[in-house]
Amino acid sequence: MGTELADFLRRQIRQTGPMTVAEWMALCLGHPRHGYYMTRDPLGAAGDFTTAPEISQMFGELLGLWAAQCWLQSGQPDPVHLVELGPGRGTLMADALRATRRVPGFHQALRVHLVETSHTLRERQRQTLAGVEVTWHDRLAEVPAGPLLLLANEFIDALPIRQFERTTRGWAERKVGLDEEDSFTFLLDPRPGDTLVPPALRNADIGAVVEICPAGQAVAREAGERLAAHGGAALFIDYGYAGPSAGDTLQAMRGHAYAPLLEAPGEADLTAHVDFTALAEAARAGGAKSWGPVEQGSLLQSLGIAHRAASLKRVAAPDQADGIDAALDRLTGDAGMGRLFKALAVTGPDTSAPAGFE
Ligand code: SAH
Repeated sequence: MGTELADFLRRQIRQTGPMTVAEWMALCLGHPRHGYYMTRDPLGAAGDFTTAPEISQMFGELLGLWAAQCWLQSGQPDPVHLVELGPGRGTLMADALRATRRVPGFHQALRVHLVETSHTLRERQRQTLAGVEVTWHDRLAEVPAGPLLLLANEFIDALPIRQFERTTRGWAERKVGLDEEDSFTFLLDPRPGDTLVPPALRNADIGAVVEICPAGQAVAREAGERLAAHGGAALFIDYGYAGPSAGDTLQAMRGHAYAPLLEAPGEADLTAHVDFTALAEAARAGGAKSWGPVEQGSLLQSLGIAHRAASLKRVAAPDQADGIDAALDRLTGDAGMGRLFKALAVTGPDTSAPAGFE
């Protein structure tokens, strides 16, 4: 492959040696000029993957109402920062704001912040949210201190992971290097070291792979610190598992199908399943309380998605009604996203259970 990003990665490896999977992911997704998210809108039928807010307006509406409920539970702080991490096309935020228009005082209190590194997607968000006062940031750290309502859907899965493999000589980090033909290839760091593998997994079978997402843990910790200091709530939704468990979950998606991991850097989406236990521990280390994870299907059902679907269907044409049923099934059903996707809530230490996490 001769893309500019591939050339850059080859040069980098020749100069400084094989790179960690995290460095590879960070460059493939986030290289300022050639990174996957920088150069395109990857969402929807014409793109590489579809997310819950793009499947149905019901998703963003219910998350908006969840945030408003948390705001009421935390004593209606004014101002309050409504922050979305990795907002894609801005669809979730638009639906959340529309659904909460009539919550007395809520919109007056809101300051809307989007944490987004891609200028292509920022432009898309600007169009979707025309008329809304929005501040964009590269990182959560740039959002001013204060009470916080934070939403993140399919954000953590895009953050770089490191992978460690158990060998007969100990735990070795998996890296990306070059083979004799100058093609990218996975290899193991010849100097094993086990410092990042959680104690519960240290005795896994030879060949087992363990994934760590330092950037995801840092975000959860920072959210936890802010919620502990100023109150509010955060909701992380992603596909993942309650760890610790071993398994290689790194995957590439292109045109709605799995693609080879190293073949076309910057042309495919790269993600890994989220370890919700590690995320919750990081949030608690920041001083906050964590809730769940619960399955996405169960969260959406307890937030009333069936009622919302029924009321949308009452005003829909017959073919649209079928679409609403299909979306409901995809978001909540076992064969769709209902079980694979999980939701983790984080709140200040003295807060009662947020909706859907009782
Ligand atoms: N939440 C959206 C989009 C998910 S795709 C939805 O559900 O439809 C991942 C999003 O995170 C994209 O907007 C991408 O540009 C953004 N993103 C990825 N890595 C990021 C990072 N390190 N910092 C900020 N945004 C990032």
